[in-house]
Amino acid sequence: MTTASHLSAQSTQPAQLAATRDPAKRSWLAAANDAACDFPIQNLPFGIFSDPLNDAPRAGVAIGDAIVDLAALQAAGLLSVAGDADVFSRPALNAFIALGRDEWRSVRVQLSALLDAECPTLREHAALRARVLVPMRDATMHLPVDIPGYTDFYSSKEHATNVGSMFRDPKNALLPNWSEMPIGYNGRASSVVVTGTPVRRPMGQLKLPDAERPIYGACRKLDIELETGFIIGRGNALGEPVACDEAEDHIFGMVLLNDWSARDIQQWEYVPLGPFNAKTFATTISAWVVTLDALEPFRVSQPEQSPEPLAYLRHEGRHAFDISLEVTLRPEGVDKPTTICRTNFKYMYWTMAQQLAHHTVSGCNTRVGDLMGSGTISGPTPDSFGSLLELTWNGARPLSIEGGGTRTFIVDGDELALAGWCQGAGYRVGFGACVGKILPASAGKGGA
Ligand code: CA
Repeated sequence: MTTASHLSAQSTQPAQLAATRDPAKRSWLAAANDAACDFPIQNLPFGIFSDPLNDAPRAGVAIGDAIVDLAALQAAGLLSVAGDADVFSRPALNAFIALGRDEWRSVRVQLSALLDAECPTLREHAALRARVLVPMRDATMHLPVDIPGYTDFYSSKEHATNVGSMFRDPKNALLPNWSEMPIGYNGRASSVVVTGTPVRRPMGQLKLPDAERPIYGACRKLDIELETGFIIGRGNALGEPVACDEAEDHIFGMVLLNDWSARDIQQWEYVPLGPFNAKTFATTISAWVVTLDALEPFRVSQPEQSPEPLAYLRHEGRHAFDISLEVTLRPEGVDKPTTICRTNFKYMYWTMAQQLAHHTVSGCNTRVGDLMGSGTISGPTPDSFGSLLELTWNGARPLSIEGGGTRTFIVDGDELALAGWCQGAGYRVGFGACVGKILPASAGKGGA
């Protein structure tokens, strides 16, 4: 019991942190050692959950098919943070995240030790295990953080080229500013929802091709955008930009993100100020935040950038991550989902560090819990495009769906699921589910 307090009292040592990522490490929790499990002992992502025995949302860490109840572990004297702060019984991770990176790492090291196959503390005490472990199947997941602000970037060269080719000119698909900065816009934080939340098809203004004026109606071109998001772990003050080579120190971790998009509403409204209602109705994120400490072994080089970015956007070393990504579509009443896209986060032209440096270069402040979307992640081949808009080339090339006919855009009742994981030797660091099912539109009180 004293080891926990001792660990937290000092800054976590690099060797202790490196040991948490040892590919050979195994847990006494058998499910965590399954090569296909998203949550091996090398991952240890943070989330917010509740369960039938305790309906208060609180902090947990995923391991195998279970959740470690961090508040219960702290109460049992097996987990400590600086000042014994009450940060784990809250309904969002923000208070824990605000303690700083030394504490994130200290908690990671303590959990890694407790869950290790060699550690008897929990392994040999069934009563204690029952208090601190909750079966994942019994748990309800909640949004992991309280999100003060949500920003969405547009950083995949392949995606921007595809969209520019479709709607402007294939010869000049990228506007000149695109290769000089990570283009982005300020999104809507209030409608970010956790995986599993149904999404209602939006109503809005649609301009049909030959009509003079728009109509009010249900979106007819409902789409996904396969993205990741990063969560700010350390804010910056107003007027004090974050340097590019320090930007990763400000990132707590990553989630999967589906930026649902109403293409017909978007096409009519986006000039001159960009998307508005086409993007505000829902954004789905996965429930588990995978820390940069867990992603570290999967760091790779970003694509070469030409022209060389301006000085404030330069960083040394490798700042991309090798994260395999997939999207499946499952029609209502069909058991088997169809994979419609396979791609990888490593294709992204602009890095998360560059996105954050650019976001703050004006002096814009960020806050703990802010969510930054990567932008749609498309790869180089037609089956690696991260939206139906690109996969079907704006409806011109319908996709075949097992048991469900064909699709150009999303049909009511369709369930769309993103998946993401880093492949290690005999294990994988995964993100868990990022799922949403589409409900029919409701005209409501604003009906035509
Ligand atoms: Ca987007």
